[in-house]
Amino acid sequence: MTSLLIQHADFLVSMDDNDTQWRDAGIYVVDNVIQQIGPTGQLPQEADRILNASKMLILPGLVNTHHHFYQTLTRNLPAAQNANLFNWLRTHYPIWARLTPEAISISTKIALAELMLSGCTTSSDHTYIWPNGARLDDQIQAALEMGARFHAARGSMSVGEAQGGLPPDKVVEQEDAIISDSQRLIESYHDASRYAMLRIVLAPCSPFSVSPALMRESVALARSYGVHSHTHLAETLDEAEYCTATFGKTPVELAEDLNWVGPDVWHAHMVHPGANEISRLGQTHTGIAHCPSSNMRLASGIAPIRSLWEAGARIGLGVDGSASNDGSHLLDEARQALLLQRVSGNPAGLTAKEVFWLATRGGAATLGRDDIGYLAPGMAADFIGYRLDSLDLAGGAVHDPLASLVFCHPPKVDVSVINGQIRVLDQQLLGVDLPILIERHNAIARALANG
Ligand SMILES: [Zn+2]
Repeated sequence: MTSLLIQHADFLVSMDDNDTQWRDAGIYVVDNVIQQIGPTGQLPQEADRILNASKMLILPGLVNTHHHFYQTLTRNLPAAQNANLFNWLRTHYPIWARLTPEAISISTKIALAELMLSGCTTSSDHTYIWPNGARLDDQIQAALEMGARFHAARGSMSVGEAQGGLPPDKVVEQEDAIISDSQRLIESYHDASRYAMLRIVLAPCSPFSVSPALMRESVALARSYGVHSHTHLAETLDEAEYCTATFGKTPVELAEDLNWVGPDVWHAHMVHPGANEISRLGQTHTGIAHCPSSNMRLASGIAPIRSLWEAGARIGLGVDGSASNDGSHLLDEARQALLLQRVSGNPAGLTAKEVFWLATRGGAATLGRDDIGYLAPGMAADFIGYRLDSLDLAGGAVHDPLASLVFCHPPKVDVSVINGQIRVLDQQLLGVDLPILIERHNAIARALANG
């Protein structure tokens, strides 16, 4: 057994049901689980490792519910800088068709590095293109090396241009191969236990790139194993038009028809649900990954997050991307969520406290976890610390430390503990040679773009 003691944090925000907060407080961890939390003087004074968190605010690790790690390789592509979703996708597909197992592995590490330095301790990823022998296994190995808690979604596309879909035929897979690989991955990797570091998710890409038959079969397979399902839905008006023309249904009606609603399903975006659809998504406790930067970047619209939340939907934040954001800074995404809900006229559209709830509790609920998202004895030891005496927060943290993290310029994290392991200290990822990783990542990015 190994113990870790955090002492003397200026502020400790638990995000528990009572919104318990302490001054001069800490956390006592044994192995990967929080044993005690509260005022420093009431905690054990000895441990194998002791960290002094004075001048810091400690809060639960942030949860990222939607991403495409491989897209870090095609950020900011000039040809796609000013495109809407469908044109953006058409520009990227031929480049992504050149992805390799190494490209998947290196981009996973880059995306997770950026996420972890921004305060993320748990992330999902949705990679849906698997050319040239690339497999989810390549990504899983890389994520395990980085030490993040990971929900690996087995994405897929099966309807190419020849069948009326959006992607080129050469990047789609056979549906029977998708299903059999999904089953292999669940049986090889899915860990349903409390404090699991790795879970598998089944994730056909979108209504315009897979068939209804695959959606139905995939969610049935997932449910037979107790695995969650994820896809993109109601992201753009183009998608709504495609669904009406192709299926005679709105995207949400299509999802309902295919059994893609419920507490074990979450949809990225949900920018354009109808009023009645919002209440139905709420009643079924369907999950939503809100990705404000991507929705702004691609001119998709403003997701009605407050209405969905009040209706009963589970809402988490996602950085999306990384070629539609084009960053993986989850704390910055929380800031974007706060700002975007105000654009249409409500200055309290989303408060700082609410946005932190979405980034922690909401994300955990969206991924179907009850062992992360708040800090209490028995919860996973996933927490982060930000220094309050930084330039970014000068003159802001003194008034309201938690809110300063999203009202002021969102800083990098100073400490990150994931599953009881210190992964970031003094804004540095421990055990990761970042310059070497970035150099290799950039070489692969150049090669992909140049063909
Ligand atoms: Zn996405």
